[in-house]
Amino acid sequence: MGKNDATEELVSVRVAANVRPLVDKELASGAKDVMQVDVRAKQIQLLNHGDFAFDEVYAPSHEPARAKEEAERLYQQLVLPLVDGLFEGYNASVLAYGQTGSGKTHTMGTSYSPGQAVRGVVPNVLQDIFARSAKIQREGNQVSLRCSYVEIHNEEIHDLLAPDGPANTANQAGATLRKRSTISIRDSAGGNGSVELIGATEVCVSSLQDCVACLEQGSLCRTTAATGMNAHSSRSHAIFSITLEQKVSDRSNIHEQQKFLAAKMHLVDLAGSERAKRTQAEGQRLKEGIQINKGLSVLGKVISILCEASENNGHNTPNNVTSGSGLSHVHVPYRESKLTRLLQDSLGGNSRTVMIACISPASSNLEESLSTLRYASKAR
Ligand code: ADP
Ligand code: MG
Repeated sequence: MGKNDATEELVSVRVAANVRPLVDKELASGAKDVMQVDVRAKQIQLLNHGDFAFDEVYAPSHEPARAKEEAERLYQQLVLPLVDGLFEGYNASVLAYGQTGSGKTHTMGTSYSPGQAVRGVVPNVLQDIFARSAKIQREGNQVSLRCSYVEIHNEEIHDLLAPDGPANTANQAGATLRKRSTISIRDSAGGNGSVELIGATEVCVSSLQDCVACLEQGSLCRTTAATGMNAHSSRSHAIFSITLEQKVSDRSNIHEQQKFLAAKMHLVDLAGSERAKRTQAEGQRLKEGIQINKGLSVLGKVISILCEASENNGHNTPNNVTSGSGLSHVHVPYRESKLTRLLQDSLGGNSRTVMIACISPASSNLEESLSTLRYASKAR
């Protein structure tokens, strides 16, 4: 134990692109497909704008078998290693980035209903976590799982699982009054570099159904807020987090020892990356736009720094083994936004991060797609 040498750590960050097929609305308006996706070369060619390289690229189609295959490939290649890591004590984050309508929610599968043919990241993660936990318990070890669900809107963190439900009432004007407690972030005691949320509801979960109930409550909470604030969900970051704690007997020693491992995984559906059109965005809207752009640009900066560190490093060690982040020699501006601050101990350091850039192939979205490709390939 005790690999405290920062140079021993690997900062594992991967950036992928997921180009969805044209949707009916785009087809009906005569939009053309402007993307050439080369899955083998892991590149995307955008008409007249050159090539963009990623760690992986995905091109799901409308054809059900192919759609299922790509969703499974994405899960296996990008996310499964993070689930493995979680059980070994490594924190993880999976982030879906892209303009509104690019497929973030579809990719993450946050609005999951059982029996769905193509499953997104979240239901796959949950299914694997529960299957493994059951196995560990059968072997006589203890596992506990908790989840929380918060959103960040205008640089404020709100609980989506508050026990009193959405806790808001629409007034006559249709505006929504939310009696929402604000959550704060602080460094955990013990100085091991981890952060904790103060005031966020944590629900103990023991089945996929328990988690689906949390996801449903959370999305209900977001939708209710949307009645007064048009398409609220596209302007806030939604963060679903799972904390895993294990007490495992280590029988490799003559004296049986109990090993305690804790790690968490954040599954993030980011706010739409589109630029607020100055002419249309005023007051509140403009303020939101600025905050979103700030959060996303800090995230891009942080990931880019971590990617660089990732390439220059060896291997990493799990939580509870090494203390602190292995990035002490570089300044990572986690504190410049609530999003990166919340994810601080699950981005870089002893953790594994995957960013999935979601992209519409439509000519009508070319400008935004170009900006996503630039953002994501720059982050990488
Ligand atoms: P976002 O969350 O980024 O705003 P959504 O996930 O809601 O975007 O997707 C926008 C639209 O595109 C939805 O109608 C969704 O069903 C469709 N869509 C997204 N990804 C795919 C895909 N891989 N295959 C087919 N349709 C998709
Ligand atoms: Mg969405």
